[in-house]
Amino acid sequence: MTVKGIIFDFGFTLFYFDNPSVERYYECFKKGLLKSIDILKEKRVWSEELSNESFVKKFAKSRQHFFRKSIKTKTEFPTSLIFQNVLESLREEHIINNIDNIDLNTYDKLADIYHSCEEDEWEPFENTRETLEILTKKNVKVALISNHPNHQTIENMLKKHDLAKFFEFILTSAKYGKRKPDPNIFLYTLEQMGLKDHANSVIMCGDEYADIIGAKRANIQSILLERKYKFPFEKEINVSNLRKINNILEILDIIE
Ligand SMILES: [Mg+2]
Repeated sequence: MTVKGIIFDFGFTLFYFDNPSVERYYECFKKGLLKSIDILKEKRVWSEELSNESFVKKFAKSRQHFFRKSIKTKTEFPTSLIFQNVLESLREEHIINNIDNIDLNTYDKLADIYHSCEEDEWEPFENTRETLEILTKKNVKVALISNHPNHQTIENMLKKHDLAKFFEFILTSAKYGKRKPDPNIFLYTLEQMGLKDHANSVIMCGDEYADIIGAKRANIQSILLERKYKFPFEKEINVSNLRKINNILEILDIIE
C-alpha cells in the first residue's frame, strides 16, 4: 500500500518512561507541584493557614476528580484548569483571597512547572529518531496525537530531543479538548495533515486501546506497538487482524 501519512502516539510509542510505577509518577508530580507553589508565594496567592502538604492533597484530589471525569466523558481537562479549580475553591473557603493576581498565562506557567519533572523522565526509544528520519525522507507525512493534559510539555520534550522538526502536526488532548479514542481528534489531525480525503492511506501507530480503537472509529488503519509490560486496568483490544510490532523501526517494513 502507498502510505501517505503516519500518526504516532507519544508515550510508550515514541518515548518511554523508565521503570514506570505509581510511586514514581507520584514523586515526579509532587516535585513539580512544590515548585509551582513557589510561584503562588511569589504572586502572594498564599496564606499562612495553608501548608504545602494540604495544597498537595487538595490538588491531588482535584486532579483525581478531573481525571475520572475525563475518562468518562473523553474530554480533557487541562492541568491549568485544575490549578484554577483548586485556587477558586481555596478562595471560597476564605483561605486565600487575591487569586486575581494570577492571569491565564500564569495558569499555563503553573501547569508547565507542574509537568516539568516529566520532561526529564521521558526519553525517545533508541530507534525513534531513525524511524522519523527515514519516514520524512520517504515523503510520508508524520503527525502526533497524545492524550496529555498540558500541550507545552509534549512540545518541550520533542524540542529537547530535536524531534519536533519531523512532525507536520502535533496535537494533544489538552489543545483539542477531547481525548483518544474520540474519532474527531483523529479526523481533525487528518485535516491538518492535508490528508482528509486519504484516510485509507494513513496509519495510526500506538501502544494502547485508545490509539487503535480511536483510529478504527475514524476509519484509519492501525499498528499496535506492543509494550514490554502491561498497565493496570488496561482495556483489551478486540480487533481482528490487528498488526503488531515490537520495535518502532518495524513500521518501515509494513509500509514498504
Ligand atoms: Mg501511549
